[in-house]
Amino acid sequence: MRIISVAAVVLACACVSAQTPASDQTGEPPKFDGKRAFEHIERLVAIGPRSAGSEGIQKTRDYIKQQLTAIGLTPVEQPFEAETPIGPVKMVNISARIPWGSSDATFRVIFAGHYDTKLSKDFTFVGANDGGSSTAFLLELARVLKGRKNLEPIEILFLDGEEAFGEWESGNTWGSRHYVEQAQKAGEVASHDLRALILVDMIGDKNLTIKREAQSTPWLTDIIWSAARQLQRPEFVAVETPISDDHLPFLQAGIPAVDLIDLEYPDASNAYWHTAEDTIDKVSAESLQAVGDVLLAALPGIEIRVK
Ligand SMILES: [Zn+2]
Repeated sequence: MRIISVAAVVLACACVSAQTPASDQTGEPPKFDGKRAFEHIERLVAIGPRSAGSEGIQKTRDYIKQQLTAIGLTPVEQPFEAETPIGPVKMVNISARIPWGSSDATFRVIFAGHYDTKLSKDFTFVGANDGGSSTAFLLELARVLKGRKNLEPIEILFLDGEEAFGEWESGNTWGSRHYVEQAQKAGEVASHDLRALILVDMIGDKNLTIKREAQSTPWLTDIIWSAARQLQRPEFVAVETPISDDHLPFLQAGIPAVDLIDLEYPDASNAYWHTAEDTIDKVSAESLQAVGDVLLAALPGIEIRVK
């Protein structure tokens, strides 16, 4: 992704044993566990670089599917071929729906993030935060939501091809653009089946500061920031900044969408962003916990709003 103003900052972005049941014997939904999410990042980083079309991203897909299956979800692949500056690249979005009352319901709230890492020829880029944190967060969120009584059908969406092959302007966000195009062809956009998109990207920074993304749907942003305020989470600040990311194709199609992203990694210097420094020691379970707690606190308000 990329900050739209001034500097061309792009972002792309981020296992755990799945033996823990989706809910305990009391029937209480499981709590979001930042440590479990952090362990997913460790497993992803151990795979190595995971750029679109690479052997590493194939292993990442296997890991995502294995983890989703282990918690009782059914991963669905959406393969496509993207025309990129380096030629055609095979990409695959992966989604999983949380089982819901009416099994044939097509409407849903979507939690999404990208699971590819930026291609780097000059150094080994493992994307602990950028690509790793979003992937890991969604896996842990899926486990929690599987055990929650959701008011709306929920889809967990792992997007391929967010990163550019080179400069951001040369092409980006292939996975989200393909997903929205397919939803449009299926009539799901016209019928408002895609009720809302909550996108996460680079949310693992130890020094986490999430600004309000300026293009995001105001009511959706307001609900999340209100939840953060009630939980007294200082990571969510009132400052606004515009960032290009996977939420834009959804917004352009008229779908309410919000992007939660910290594009100052670790600070305004951006020294760790798209560099060999984006490693496991730069991210923390506490930051993942903060985002998990806030989004789960915000979810009831979102569900009621889109009903
Ligand atoms: Zn990136």
